[in-house]
Amino acid sequence: MNIILLGAPGAGKGTQAKILVAERGMVQLSTGDMLRAVRASGSELGKRFGEVMDRGELIPDAMMIEMIDARLDEPDCRNGAIFDGFPRTSGQAEALDEMLRRKNLPLKAVIEMTVDENALVDRITGRYSCENCGAGYHDVYQRPSVDGVCDACGHTTFKRRPDDNAQTVRDRLTVYRRDTAPIIPHYDAQGLIQRVDGMADIDDVRAAIAAIMDE
Ligand code: ADP
Ligand code: ADP
Ligand code: ZN
Repeated sequence: MNIILLGAPGAGKGTQAKILVAERGMVQLSTGDMLRAVRASGSELGKRFGEVMDRGELIPDAMMIEMIDARLDEPDCRNGAIFDGFPRTSGQAEALDEMLRRKNLPLKAVIEMTVDENALVDRITGRYSCENCGAGYHDVYQRPSVDGVCDACGHTTFKRRPDDNAQTVRDRLTVYRRDTAPIIPHYDAQGLIQRVDGMADIDDVRAAIAAIMDE
């Protein structure tokens, strides 16, 4: 079963994707994580990606489409893919439709996670993750059960993303409204949109998504 998690930066896509991975053995396809891995390699391409990401702009469609096309051919994606952060433009959405048809992978739903804009800024500016295993946390909304210790792996160092600051978040929200929100009608026309209240507690959002998955 394949699904798309769609929502503004900070809507909770990554948080819910990780829960689905743990509970259902699905695979999280986060284009943001893929780009950050290229960036961390220090290559020329990685540096170029980093500059675009720090401005809150988008990487060109052709590169993103190629990245996802190749990743979908890896055997683990047969367990079901969770698209997290892709597609982000109409061009990417159309390319994904074609790709899924070609690879014979059906799309179960496009889960639109709605969150108030003010809450998004709070979520993003308080976001951090475990440096070792990548588990996600928040200064206020999702603290580890023991301060300073990762619940998932026991590690004690954490990191924050350079683009998770108030100014870049506003720019990313503008890009979301301009380039990404228009793909909602694209999927609505296919009867695939399922709306979930992303303002609810993490576990309530989890339950709402589970109900859609089990329909
Ligand atoms: P996205 O992947 O959509 O950008 P994340 O899943 O990384 O968003 O969530 C952004 C931040 O908000 C994280 O710090 C996370 O811990 C927190 N968060 C996620 N879901 C919720 C929720 N339902 N309520 C409160 N905080 C949340
Ligand atoms: P968030 O969910 O918090 O918005 P992501 O980790 O998904 O952040 O993305 C971080 C940055 O990586 C984006 O602001 C953009 O620069 C780039 N990026 C991620 N996914 C895509 C995509 N599908 N198309 C173009 N750029 C992308
Ligand atoms: Zn950890």
